[in-house]
Amino acid sequence: MKHVISLLPGDGIGPEVTQATVRAVEATGVDIEWQSLEAGSVALEKTGEVLPESVLASLRKNRVGLKGPIATPIGTGFSSVNVSLRKTLDLYANFRPARALPGVKTPFSDRGLDLIVVRENTEGLYSGLEHEVVPGVVESLRIITEKASLRISEYAFAFARKAGRKKVSAIHKANIMKLGDGLFLRCSRQVAERYPEIEYDELIIDNTCMQLVMRPEQFDILLMENLYGDIVSDLCAGLVGGLGMVPGANLGDDCAIFEAVHGSAPDIAGQNVANPTALMRAAVQMLDHIDEPEAAQRLRAAIEHVYKEGKSLTRDVGGTASTSTFADAVVAAIG
Ligand code: ATP
Repeated sequence: MKHVISLLPGDGIGPEVTQATVRAVEATGVDIEWQSLEAGSVALEKTGEVLPESVLASLRKNRVGLKGPIATPIGTGFSSVNVSLRKTLDLYANFRPARALPGVKTPFSDRGLDLIVVRENTEGLYSGLEHEVVPGVVESLRIITEKASLRISEYAFAFARKAGRKKVSAIHKANIMKLGDGLFLRCSRQVAERYPEIEYDELIIDNTCMQLVMRPEQFDILLMENLYGDIVSDLCAGLVGGLGMVPGANLGDDCAIFEAVHGSAPDIAGQNVANPTALMRAAVQMLDHIDEPEAAQRLRAAIEHVYKEGKSLTRDVGGTASTSTFADAVVAAIG
């Protein structure tokens, strides 16, 4: 069956890692027609909009997207295209697995880490709802709702049950944010009661960060609101070799966008040195999502093979290979 997929190569290292990933996906033999789209600063220059309606229309129609990082200017300038996409398309669950790969040396290499951050994706401080009340005073709005908290908890527990995972930890700061995080916790507890076979615990976010760098193997699924999830998923990426390694899926009831956790990495853009593993692993998730499990398994196995062999790794994980050489090795391993 032919699949039509919206493709957003994005900014910075986005086009390089996207090209490498498209090559690897095509090598699996799966029949995909890519609809290439522009958003962010490139689209702004050409169309006057950072998120043109044509991009949303394509995603709504195809219901699946593969996306490179889209840069958000710091401090001033347009607001995040990533946030707009998640909110407009109601992609409420952000699923970020941090799994170790063979041959990547980290202080935790021997612990076989396999953590998943499940992040609420549509509200909280990360929404960037803020305004200047008077010069020198900025008010930032943090909205937490029962509806969003219940559905992200439901997503985390339903996934845990389906995937045979053991534990969900709700991460919070309810000792200080008594109302907002208190509501989030109440919703998590309510859902946890319907999944008695899955262990449930609660940890304060600051303690979680310390525990993650001391004894990360105690965690399984970490459930949290938007901004905590943004920060903790970079921490988890660091545990398994860095941002080049970790994929993410933005999932809603009608659409899904697969991406890398990392940003546009302007410091290494255009040099053919970025690690495309994160986006390739996002593509593995995408292939499973579109019901192409064999292609997903071939790509997953090929990535693992290249890491086991250790000859064609990019420099962020201790190798010397370029982005395209790594992609060549993955394509060759798919056979
Ligand atoms: P954002 O705010 O958009 O999430 P960020 O602050 O997380 O971005 P990144 O752009 O992800 O920043 O980059 C952080 C660091 O990680 C940079 O030094 C960058 O070069 C490195 N990095 C990110 N992605 C990759 C990759 N795919 N391969 C190699 N290094 C990467």
